[in-house]
Amino acid sequence: MKTIDDFDFENKKALIRVDFNVPLNETFEVTDANRIEAAKPTIIKVLEDGGSAVLMSHLGRPKGQKNADLSLQHIAKKVSDVIGVSVKFIEDCVGQVAEDAVAALKRGEVLLLENLRFHAEEEKGDEAFAEQLSKLGDVYVNDAFGTAHRAHASTTIVAQFFPDNKCFGYLLAKEIEAIEKVMRTGEKPVLAILGGAKVSSKITIIENILDKVDHLIVGGGMTYTFIKAQGGKVGDSICEDDKMDLAMNILKQAKEKGVQVHIPVDVLAANDFANDAETKVVDVNEIPDGWQGLDAGPKTLENFKEVILKAKTILWNGPVGVFEMESFAKGTIAVGNFIDEATQNGAFSLVGGGDSVAAVKQFGFEKKVSYVSTGGGAMLESLEGKTLPGIAAIIG
Ligand code: AMP
Repeated sequence: MKTIDDFDFENKKALIRVDFNVPLNETFEVTDANRIEAAKPTIIKVLEDGGSAVLMSHLGRPKGQKNADLSLQHIAKKVSDVIGVSVKFIEDCVGQVAEDAVAALKRGEVLLLENLRFHAEEEKGDEAFAEQLSKLGDVYVNDAFGTAHRAHASTTIVAQFFPDNKCFGYLLAKEIEAIEKVMRTGEKPVLAILGGAKVSSKITIIENILDKVDHLIVGGGMTYTFIKAQGGKVGDSICEDDKMDLAMNILKQAKEKGVQVHIPVDVLAANDFANDAETKVVDVNEIPDGWQGLDAGPKTLENFKEVILKAKTILWNGPVGVFEMESFAKGTIAVGNFIDEATQNGAFSLVGGGDSVAAVKQFGFEKKVSYVSTGGGAMLESLEGKTLPGIAAIIG
């Protein structure tokens, strides 16, 4: 795996694909600079070597049209503040103006290109457009994990114009290493905690992960499809009747592969999908009609605790309850605390994909787990076992 550390950027121009798709407020100020902070080490390495950095990103969904609201000019000041170097901005990402701006760039300088998605060719993965981009640097660096699952011009296609001069930035390299740890090289026992609303959205992940893990915790709304499939009464809980065969098949496969599956034994049930609903703890197989399971119960959490504290490698994807409502967030918070404890005892823990990252941030577990992935869709596809085009383009 070639990373940015394999290159010396002295007098070189690095064309860096970053993910600066950051939120802006009504007056176009950056309200969360995490993604800019995340790209900083890569940019600094290039500058400290004595090179210059050409930054390219998308922002929002302009759908191939120029859109002043989505100009990357809005974020140039923030990028300057974060990296501590005054950033130049150029009002296009290809063509003569961009090429001239790059040619004028001196060592130690940083140039931010205009939103890639103002050109429809970007998302189409257009080769001629990618070739134009390739004129803007000596070395191509991909540091945008959030778009690594897209075969866009700037994330994938452009790499072919840098056969020997392409590499991963620090952020993307860290993401790849974290996934590798869970999927291949992690210390045993390896545990996956999969929650969230539906079996159907997690099925490919579960099937792929069964070959990699020793333990699987199933939580959240998915639970009830498994319970009903085994003959339990789930009341009004979320349940995908058409996925019950699939659930049984997963359990069978898990048994054949020697994976221990842990499913809730009790739940916090509510008489309405509302924070102020009446609640009671019930056996997971005996949820009365008119009631729905919205969080893990106390016995379940005891069981989960035991499994989590024994694990040496942990993947967490999906909350174990409706964490958005305070009344049903306790299970997800407890799981976060158990993972925190396991991590302090030396386990490697990765949180990634969709809502689990939101939950982790909301409850302040971000600094307590080993790694929080920055890419929702890209992480989900990695867990499904897919090779991401943006990664393949650098390795291949
Ligand atoms: P996902 O994006 O698949 O990880 O699903 C996350 C969503 O699952 C969150 O919005 C949770 O509120 C929801 N969820 C978790 N547990 C339950 C449950 N028992 N019933 C309904 N929704 C749930």
